Amino acid sequence: MSVQIDHLLNETRHFPPTPEFAAQSVSKPELYTDAAADRLGFWADQARELLHWHKPFTKTLDWTNPPFAKWFEDGELNVAYNCLDRHVLAGNGDRVALYWEGEPGETRAITYAELTAEVKRAANVLIKLGVTAGDRVAVYLPMIPEAIVAMLAVARVGAVHSVIFGGFSPESISARIDDADAVLVITADGGYRKGKVSALKPAVDEALASGESYVRNVLVVKRTGQDVDWTDRDLWWHEELASVDAEHEAQPFAAENPLFILYTSGTTGKPKGILHTTGGYLTQAAFTHKNVFDLRPETDVYWCTADIGWITGHSYVTYGPLANGATQVLYEGTPDTPHPGRWWELIEKYKVTILYTAPTAIRTFMKLGRQIPQKFDLSSLRVLGSVGEPINPEAWMWYREVIGGNKAPVVDTWWQTETGGIMISALPGLTTTKPGAAQVPIPGVTIDVLDDDGAHVGHGNGGLLVVTEPWPGMLRGIWGDPERFKETYWDKFGNKSLYFAGDGARLDDEGDIWLLGRVDDVMNVSGHRLSTAEIESSLVAHPMTAEAAVVGASDEVTGQAVVAFVIIKFSHLDDTSHADIAATLRAHVSQQIGAIARPKHIFIVKELPKTRSGKIMRRLLRDVAEGREIGDVTTLADTMVMQSISNTMK
Ligand code: ATP
Ligand code: MG
Repeated sequence: MSVQIDHLLNETRHFPPTPEFAAQSVSKPELYTDAAADRLGFWADQARELLHWHKPFTKTLDWTNPPFAKWFEDGELNVAYNCLDRHVLAGNGDRVALYWEGEPGETRAITYAELTAEVKRAANVLIKLGVTAGDRVAVYLPMIPEAIVAMLAVARVGAVHSVIFGGFSPESISARIDDADAVLVITADGGYRKGKVSALKPAVDEALASGESYVRNVLVVKRTGQDVDWTDRDLWWHEELASVDAEHEAQPFAAENPLFILYTSGTTGKPKGILHTTGGYLTQAAFTHKNVFDLRPETDVYWCTADIGWITGHSYVTYGPLANGATQVLYEGTPDTPHPGRWWELIEKYKVTILYTAPTAIRTFMKLGRQIPQKFDLSSLRVLGSVGEPINPEAWMWYREVIGGNKAPVVDTWWQTETGGIMISALPGLTTTKPGAAQVPIPGVTIDVLDDDGAHVGHGNGGLLVVTEPWPGMLRGIWGDPERFKETYWDKFGNKSLYFAGDGARLDDEGDIWLLGRVDDVMNVSGHRLSTAEIESSLVAHPMTAEAAVVGASDEVTGQAVVAFVIIKFSHLDDTSHADIAATLRAHVSQQIGAIARPKHIFIVKELPKTRSGKIMRRLLRDVAEGREIGDVTTLADTMVMQSISNTMK
């Protein structure tokens, strides 16, 4: 008999769109009916409506050789032209594309005309350096406008970028450069993080020290002005841009021309080099950015806090917003520098209307207390988005109440590096939202929840999340490893056209989707399969708790036992002993969702192990809970965290 994931949490709060919001909604209900009636026709319409095609496509999808899909195959477009030139030609050149703010406080407002001009020069520099269509270019930059210019210039000449998060080590950089055989690296002397100058170029130098790569040049943006070592292959970005022609005409490329390689966050293991192409990817990025955030490019000020080193930074900082001609905020630094209200200050300053961030950030703000955001005027906010992990209902409510003033709808968006764009989300003007649920597939995407045997679980049950039909933004492969591509995502059910996401999900009685956490993290306690998300949400629902991670640790009696690691809010840390807190929380979980879920052990910790994109790495906590040596920590943001957790447990 097949086994499903048990369901414990019973969340019943509902928030329909206000009549005012619904009346002005960018998305109309026909999106759903049109997509249901003719899914491929719907995507073809979106591709034509949202993008400029140098050569129109006549074929929408080729799925004759699953899992290798081709979208809009005979069409031709230029991604950078779509994100830049066409807005200028349409008379919107004076619209601000980027309100950039450096961590130390300097600012730049860059219009679409200015950004276009800069990208044209950068494209000419790439050509001068011999970069041609299909070549790979590594980008290792802080969150400065040049990062976006670099990505778009690479796209403009039909080359392929591989953005490497600015905090990665020389080993991670060289692994990525080698995996993709990059010919050029674009970096900076340094950047600002947590109030300090951090060097970037030395890491690139070290990554290239063996001299075995194909890298011919390193293009260096001057950001901090610090001293850097210099070799023959190094060139200053500003000097090169000044040396080339200002004009560059964007050439069209085939819709399936590769756009980028991006490595996954590495939450579960070794990152995978995910390959995306142009036409389908840009269609889905633009469509979701417009509809999920109810975007009005003429009036909205949008801010996605993700680093460009992650997929969210690709699809919802660079490509989606710029394809839609949006105005956005780009911030270089950390949320707590120079003070813990920096983000809220930026929202007040730029009158941000749409905010897109991650549960990890929301929970950190919960830990610090609501009095910090309450010092700022956040009344401009009208849509709030969440991405990256399941959002606990209490964090969702806090986000809505404290940041959204109880009026801005919250949309929880589920997707992955592999999916390219948002797959499951409420549409804020149409969907009645539920705290903690990702809810419904976006129009044109088909999702199901299956048991181990591939059977639909039915309403009220949990199982494995799958995408049942190809979608435009889907990954086209793992770079250089078609076998791993097939094995990882398409072999699970013996049906080559079902995409296995690796996440657990539950359908509620109305058929809405709730993410339960990664399938690898599902626990088996006395024969019950329990997900991490619901127990964590129960812990976070207690007023003392800011954040929680649970894992299953092997147990002689129950097979596995639930072990929880929790962070207590600052305001509750003073008077209660750890033993009392643990006892209270165990009783709370037991009472709220049942004795089976009651953690056997609860450890009060100051931090949780997270990837650099802020996702909890439960496999490391499992190592600790089972007394094993701690596994691969290369994608961990702060390696000291594991030390401090191990000490807590002694
Ligand atoms: P790796 O695949 O290397 O372990 P990763 O899965 O963390 O890394 P990403 O592609 O950045 O890399 O993250 C996608 C994953 O993040 C999803 O599979 C899911 O587990 C989680 N996720 C993203 N958004 C949500 C969401 N809204 N709700 C629940 N989980 C989410
Ligand atoms: Mg993943």
